[in-house]
Amino acid sequence: MSADDTPRLDWDSFARQGAEIAAWGARYHQTLSERPVRAPLTPGAVAARFDAHPPEIGEGLDGILSEIDDKIMPGLTHWQHPRFFAYFPANATPPSMLADFVAAILAQQCMLWQTSPAGTELETRVLDWLRQGLGLPEGFQGVIQDSASSATLAAVLVMRERALEWAGNRRGLAGRPQVRVYASDEVHSSVDRAIWVAGIGAENLVRIPTQGPLRAMDPDALRAQIAADRAAGFLPAGVVACVGGTGTGACDDLKAVLGVARDEGLYSHVDAAWAGAAMICPEFRTLWAGIEAADSVVLNPHKWMGVQFDFSAHYLRDPEPLVKTLAIQPEYLRTHGKDGFVNHSEWSVPLGRRFRALKLWFVLKAYGLAGLRAVIRDHVRWSQALAETLRADPRFEIVTDPVLSLFTFALKEADDAAMIDYVNRVNDDGRIYVTQGRTGGRIVVRFQVGSFACTEADVRLAGEVLREMAR
Ligand code: PLP
Repeated sequence: MSADDTPRLDWDSFARQGAEIAAWGARYHQTLSERPVRAPLTPGAVAARFDAHPPEIGEGLDGILSEIDDKIMPGLTHWQHPRFFAYFPANATPPSMLADFVAAILAQQCMLWQTSPAGTELETRVLDWLRQGLGLPEGFQGVIQDSASSATLAAVLVMRERALEWAGNRRGLAGRPQVRVYASDEVHSSVDRAIWVAGIGAENLVRIPTQGPLRAMDPDALRAQIAADRAAGFLPAGVVACVGGTGTGACDDLKAVLGVARDEGLYSHVDAAWAGAAMICPEFRTLWAGIEAADSVVLNPHKWMGVQFDFSAHYLRDPEPLVKTLAIQPEYLRTHGKDGFVNHSEWSVPLGRRFRALKLWFVLKAYGLAGLRAVIRDHVRWSQALAETLRADPRFEIVTDPVLSLFTFALKEADDAAMIDYVNRVNDDGRIYVTQGRTGGRIVVRFQVGSFACTEADVRLAGEVLREMAR
């Protein structure tokens, strides 16, 4: 390209390079298990491979794949690696990658029904398929959010507005009673952030003590706290419950907690970002027994269902309070002369929306619910078997029993420094990747099985590495 060339939309190169990228991507995944899971941690090393100034003259994309191999690959932590046991999984299956490619090609803006009737209607349809797969009652309506954090923010905003009789958005929060939201310590930090962003204030996220083997919120303490807050002039607004908390997989007793929320007239939101995917298996649904009483539920197919980021499924028992909180309709966002459609941008904080429904459609079409159930069941079984192996080894103690495929453990009699040292040794070795956590005031290793590329042999190898590094 010369300096005076204006950019062309070169579809012939696009077709050739698209095919090259697909072949390169398949090779990457087929050889992934040979790479260390986590990138070596040398801050600044990747940035140093790139010029400090942008290219003035365009040079096209030929050669870009070898540049990726040289400059990008060494700085990647491989989330799709079969021996990624850290955090929670973020699975990208081939059908979802292809769907995202199609979404990029069509480049739809699905903010209103009229700006993408197909995007809007497919979103409603596939989320209803998923609702059926999860065993959620008819009547729950779904919307795709970019992340569980966004769904939780939307729910917290509804809590605030509903409690303030819809005056917060109009008049602000000054001079109004302080809104309060209740959750246990086991909820994800996205709840804290939603509280900050909603202007509620961290001190008004009231932590309710937990009890029992699943570290569930104490419903009596919740009820007592709400009563005490009312007496003190606060305005109780909502409860955030968790099913599969991030640290240890804690699960609230939804029947009890949502019962208190209902009795007290509070809006309820359930964060099942990780564990929700497993609810496609009927035998795991005891973990969220009572879910039908929730006002709002979020789960992340982009974690454990093979639908790559960004795809959070947000279900509402009644979308009306959400729409009342978030809908904004200047003239240019109105659709005149048509009835019976939804504008999904009225259900979320961002206005713009990609055509994400394609991803769930492709994944369900390719694998079916049965295929997805088989993957999740294997993960749970393999993880629980490893927990038993470690339990039988006198050097280890299981700190929290497996919830689905997540458990935590520690080296017996190791202090925090020794545990951090252990986690670093395990991760520096490169064969597996785990994360540390803190539970009961001590550092533990969090171990979860969730990569769609993982096999039983990978989990056995993980057991060998964990034991080898404990010597
Ligand atoms: N909730 C739970 C329980 C999580 O574990 C996480 C992330 O791991 C989130 C919420 C946030 O998810 P997202 O990245 O989709 O916002």
